[in-house]
Amino acid sequence: MSEAILVLNAGSSSLKFAVYGGASGALVPVLRGKVAGIGTAAVFSARDGVGAAVPEADLLQIAPEIGHDALIPLLLAWIAGNGVRITSAGHRVVHGGRAHAGPAKVSADLLEELEALVPLAPLHQPHNLDAIRSVAAFAPELPQVACFDTSFHRTQDRLAQLFALPREMSEAGILRYGFHGLSYDYIAGRLPEALGARAEGRVIVAHLGNGASMCAMRGRQSVATSMGFTALDGLMMGQRCGALDPGVVLYLMQQKGMSAEAVGHVLYEKSGLAGVSGMTNDMTVLQASDSAEAREAIALFCYRAAGELAQLVAAIDGLDAIVFTAGIGENSAEVRAMICDRLGWLGVTLDMQANAANATRISAAGSAVAVLVIPTDEEAVIAAATHRLGTDLG
Ligand code: ADP
Repeated sequence: MSEAILVLNAGSSSLKFAVYGGASGALVPVLRGKVAGIGTAAVFSARDGVGAAVPEADLLQIAPEIGHDALIPLLLAWIAGNGVRITSAGHRVVHGGRAHAGPAKVSADLLEELEALVPLAPLHQPHNLDAIRSVAAFAPELPQVACFDTSFHRTQDRLAQLFALPREMSEAGILRYGFHGLSYDYIAGRLPEALGARAEGRVIVAHLGNGASMCAMRGRQSVATSMGFTALDGLMMGQRCGALDPGVVLYLMQQKGMSAEAVGHVLYEKSGLAGVSGMTNDMTVLQASDSAEAREAIALFCYRAAGELAQLVAAIDGLDAIVFTAGIGENSAEVRAMICDRLGWLGVTLDMQANAANATRISAAGSAVAVLVIPTDEEAVIAAATHRLGTDLG
């Protein structure tokens, strides 16, 4: 049996997993997969180390209504059935608060500390912590490591983290924490090979997925980011509105009589690409549509992204490179072109052919700013951290 590290990313209705082996020291994925539709119509899918789909007959058989708790022991048993012995587990945990500038080994004290952060990330944190508890219940001896989406941003100076709120509120932790840190960490690690010495310069990474944010880096460290106290701030996203005049929230509650829950539902689920198009949060569907609403949703997404990027330029005193990543950033030549079209004044010029081909470098030869496309890999960051903190592979 080979030894490997399990990486888990538990969401409200999905569980993504990856298994990393590494006989020769370098960690490589041997299995990756996902259970979608947990709680209602769960569907399991998996790929092997070379990316080939695991045949239907070899997949884990699960009841459509299976919950998270029952799923994790079945998944661990299925992985063992594939000839892999898990020696440690690493988890994506959305919130590490102010204290954690890096991953942390799971202990009872850590769980208690992370539980206290649930009110700051109620949609994600409980599921992340439940997955840790489920693994601990099934395999109590397994070392576990928590990797936080907030950690990467703890290098930011105080001004970048402050809201202009009364001091006592900032002191009580109402701060800009930032998210998508595991993705930014991965991209920061790829920058030297992509940019050479410029990697240490002024770089803005645009993580454009269903959730979307940007991070301005210098010396490959976070200087400023578009998400704030929650993952609602900043860019327009698939279903989230991004930055919004807080007066809109007051108006909806005070004048329209909406409850906090109803407003939260609008801001997190009904806005963004889905809300503006009135159709879907799926960029591929919007791009294929010629409806005026779909076109407007894409146009607003790009307008907002260019504006946010311009604001971040001020935090790093200029710009050497832009990196696009995540589902939309890696795949949508149209969105990249529409955003960059608004950034010509910064010295951004695209090579349209390279852009259409999703090439690594998509800026034109004479562009003052390098523009890159780098696929992100948050699981690889978690696996590496878990390897460092959790165990040595045999
Ligand atoms: P998540 O935040 O859920 O991890 P992803 O990073 O997977 O999201 O990004 C999902 C988004 O990427 C969706 O809007 C999807 O339509 C978009 N996307 C995926 N492939 C393409 C493509 N080829 N062209 C345009 N958009 C794409």
